[in-house]
Amino acid sequence: MTDGRALPDRGTRPVRVVVTGATGQVAYALLPRIAAGEMFGGDTQVDLRLFDIPPMISKAAGVVMELQDGAYPLLSQVRASADRAESHASADWVLLVGSVPRGPGMERGDLIRKNGPIFVEEGQAIARHASKEVRVVVVGNPCNTNCLIARHAAGAGVPDDRWTALTRLDHNRARSLLAEKAGTRVREVKKLAIWGNHSATLYPDFTNAEISGRKAADAIDSAWLETEFIPAVQQRGAAVIAARGASSAFSAAQAIVDHVRGLVEGTPRDDWTSLAVVSDGSYGVPAGIVSSFPCRALGRAGGGAFEIVQGITLNAFAEARIAATIAELERERDIVKDLLAG
Ligand code: NAD
Repeated sequence: MTDGRALPDRGTRPVRVVVTGATGQVAYALLPRIAAGEMFGGDTQVDLRLFDIPPMISKAAGVVMELQDGAYPLLSQVRASADRAESHASADWVLLVGSVPRGPGMERGDLIRKNGPIFVEEGQAIARHASKEVRVVVVGNPCNTNCLIARHAAGAGVPDDRWTALTRLDHNRARSLLAEKAGTRVREVKKLAIWGNHSATLYPDFTNAEISGRKAADAIDSAWLETEFIPAVQQRGAAVIAARGASSAFSAAQAIVDHVRGLVEGTPRDDWTSLAVVSDGSYGVPAGIVSSFPCRALGRAGGGAFEIVQGITLNAFAEARIAATIAELERERDIVKDLLAG
């Protein structure tokens, strides 16, 4: 589905990476890993730009100092700014982590409205300042709809295939739960995919998943898959908050590293991954909506392009759950329709 624009060549110049929400807890877990080369590989220098809102910029200076104090050999430059013209200039990757957190008593619809304007500003700034080849990963929640808003605000200059939102954390959670239940290693779980929204309606499709080469439903009790596995994945974020008193942070950072590294290096031939991408109408998901799909990244050889995996058989159980999560995405789109003018 993508046109495969080239990624910056390895080793020729530092890859320019923006992380917004740079003083938040996810960024604090993520930034040292980017600096250490875990996202772009051990032979790629990184020019790291931290963006945060003006009240947080003095705190961001402390994060910059810590990154400098790490003496990371691959970190060619690090700075913080509250001005997107500065932070986003010629950026190759923009990781949109910053967003307003959900406050007490705030409904999901309120959160969507509250965050919408931030992502209009982000989309416009990316179109104006970032590299022509920029790739964007939206993490700040509600990430699918924030991605939709930013993509519209950016206009035609930053095409659909540059935009992704993060469902890799849900993907990792689901693989890990399946491996634990089957008593095997995570690497034995393949072709698991998250469909739809990064929310409590997401559908982790186990009907096509394989564990050690067997269908998951042959390896694991299907009643457990239908009644316990799905809600466990859907509610995992809430379970972490309940136990830890704070939302997922280093597991989110791991998922962001996996997401970007997967795009750069490509998906193994015998597997697929989960990316929330702008729908091209595949599987009846309305075109333009940002939905998670089973995807395959083509890696450097494919210019960093990715494609939605085609030809997957979905049974009535899977179809009903995908329809429910897509219906939620359509409702979210309607809540922000005034912001989708671009
Ligand atoms: P946090 O509250 O610790 O940090 C939020 C950051 O956003 C801070 O740096 C803050 O200054 C910044 N921010 C606040 N208002 C802003 C604005 N108006 N414009 C730009 N930035 C602003 O939150 P966190 O735990 O680091 O999580 C960050 C976001 O990532 C949250 O929206 C969270 O829900 C989301 N998240 C998504 C996933 C996923 O799987 N998609 C996983 C984990 C976290």
